[in-house]
Amino acid sequence: MIIDAHVHAGEYYRHFTARFADQMMATTGLPPEALSAPEDKLLAEMDAAGVDHAFLLAFDVRRVEGFSVPNTFVADLCARHPERFTGFASVDAGRPGAAEELRHAVTELGLRGLKTAPCYLRMSPADPRWFEVYETAQELGVPVLVHTGYTPAKNADARYFSPLLLEPVAKEFPELRLILAHLGTPWTTPCIDLLSRHPQLYADLSIFGTYQSPPTVAAALAHARVRGVLDRLLWGTDFPFATMSAAVARMARLTTDATPWPSGSAPLTPDEHRALMGGTAARLTQK
Ligand SMILES: [Zn+2]
Repeated sequence: MIIDAHVHAGEYYRHFTARFADQMMATTGLPPEALSAPEDKLLAEMDAAGVDHAFLLAFDVRRVEGFSVPNTFVADLCARHPERFTGFASVDAGRPGAAEELRHAVTELGLRGLKTAPCYLRMSPADPRWFEVYETAQELGVPVLVHTGYTPAKNADARYFSPLLLEPVAKEFPELRLILAHLGTPWTTPCIDLLSRHPQLYADLSIFGTYQSPPTVAAALAHARVRGVLDRLLWGTDFPFATMSAAVARMARLTTDATPWPSGSAPLTPDEHRALMGGTAARLTQK
């Protein structure tokens, strides 16, 4: 079972602004219009890549970017294809009622996780305004996928890129399962070290796994293995910022000597590969 743990819903003309699409897609080599994942394109991409299931993300950046991919839009896609999608709500703690919006999305709309975009919202993920949201997620038992790492979005605040900003949150909410997106790129080593300090932390490989060189990806996975956190990493693409087929093939090559691993490190075992490609993600969203 292959699960892409980081997939963006939303359609170019309907949701995203052209300005945002221009900035975000410039670093991917894809045209701005490629920032679009209508239902048929999503399913075709998954089928072509052999991806069984995806975590499908809403994205609320209304306050800063003037658009959102609404929770209701994601919930609708999930309701039509419950076997293909697990939906993640998105809320902005800088707006009133964020925690209630999350509760509604989970209990009424059937979403099963939360995606947050702190640096895009020019807030630290440790800003106290998030705490009621985290408290609610912890109580509802849903994981929180937090953007960490670099983004080319011009309105974002680079002071809030670092995955280490999540340490106080992990301490304050020991039952809250947090997923650090993009392995905190470029702070991948500190991100893995942070996972080793808190057993409820996870990280996804989206963007990092696609755009970094295979030896760089192998080195990060080798470090995660040494730290004992390899079984808390989730494969994901960040589609449509990256395509799925090439990313699946790249991960498969990490099970062989085709990728140069650091000396003393063996390629991924079949069990490790299975966990990365979906086993861990399946475990994470089970109630
Ligand atoms: Zn993303």
